[in-house]
Amino acid sequence: MTYPMILSDFVCFDLKGLYCKYGDFYIDPVQPVTTAVISHAHADHAVSGNNTVYATAATLAFMQLRYGKNAFRTSVAVCYNQPVQIRDVKITFIPAGHMLGSAQILMEYNGIKYFYTGDYKLQPDTTCEPIEWVTADVLITESTFANPQIIHPDPVVEIKKLNDIKINILLGAYGLGKSQRLISLINTYAPQKIILVHHKIMPINALYEKQGFAPGCYQVYSRKLMKNRDEFVYIVPPFTFDSYIRATGVKRLFASGWKNLQANEQDTLYISDHADWNDILETVSRTQPKQVWTLHGNGLHLKKHFGDDIFVKLLN
Ligand SMILES: [Zn+2]
Ligand SMILES: [Zn+2]
Repeated sequence: MTYPMILSDFVCFDLKGLYCKYGDFYIDPVQPVTTAVISHAHADHAVSGNNTVYATAATLAFMQLRYGKNAFRTSVAVCYNQPVQIRDVKITFIPAGHMLGSAQILMEYNGIKYFYTGDYKLQPDTTCEPIEWVTADVLITESTFANPQIIHPDPVVEIKKLNDIKINILLGAYGLGKSQRLISLINTYAPQKIILVHHKIMPINALYEKQGFAPGCYQVYSRKLMKNRDEFVYIVPPFTFDSYIRATGVKRLFASGWKNLQANEQDTLYISDHADWNDILETVSRTQPKQVWTLHGNGLHLKKHFGDDIFVKLLN
C-alpha cells in the first residue's frame, strides 16, 4: 500500500503567475493565459484577455464590467462548494469573505488536498459571502499581513470615528469591494450621515444589488447637494481622492488596511479586507495542514512561528 504524497511542485510561479502543471491552469495569472482559475475580481488577481476563465458568477460579472469584451473568450461559472474537474485536478470554490464572489480554491489531486486562499478576511462583512474553511494537506495562504505586529483594529470602532467629524467627509476607497463595505458600515454605525458615491462606483453598486448584496442607502454625488450641509460622506476612488488634495472645508480620509499608505494617521480609516496575523493562525488551525505555502507577502514570520511543527515554504 502506498500513501499519497504532497507534490512539492504542485503549483509553481512562472512569469505568468502561479501555475499548476497537473491541471494545466494558472491561478490568478498576472498575464493572459489559456486556462485561468480566478479567485476574485480585484485587478491584481483578474487580468483581461485570458482564453478560458473559471470563476464565480459574481467575479465574471465584475470582470465583464471592467474589461468589456476583452474580459475572456469563454467562461465557466463555478458555484461555491460544487467541484469542477480541470484535467486531473478537482477544484472546489470555498467562500473567502474578501469581497462579493471571492473564492478560495481547493485543489485535489492524487489523494492530496491543496487549498489556495487567495485574498481572504475573517471580519464580518454584509456585502459578501462569509468565509468558510476546509481541512487540507497543504494550505497555500496569502501572507500580506503575516506579521505578529499586525493586528487589524475593529472596523466598527474605525467607522464610528465618522460620527465625531462634524464637517463633510471625502472618503477615498477602492471602488470594488471596499466602497460597498463602507456604505454598509456607514448605514449601520453612522446612520445620520448621507452617503454620496462617485459616478464610477455606481455600476459596481448596481452589480452588488443585482446579486442580492445591496450595500444600503446612498446617492450619486452632485456638487450642489454637498454645498449647504455638513453631514455628507462622499466616497471616491483613489484617483479622484488624490485630485482633491487641496480641497478645503472637508475632512479627507482614506480607507485602507495599510498602516503606512498615508503619511498621516489622522487621515486614515484602518479597515482591511485581508487577514491579519491572528486570522492567519486561525485559518491554519481550521485547515489543519501538514504544510503551509506562502505567497503575496513575507512568510518568514510564519516559518519561525511554526518551527518544526508545520513545514512552511515561501513560494515567492
Ligand atoms: Zn483582493
Ligand atoms: Zn490581492
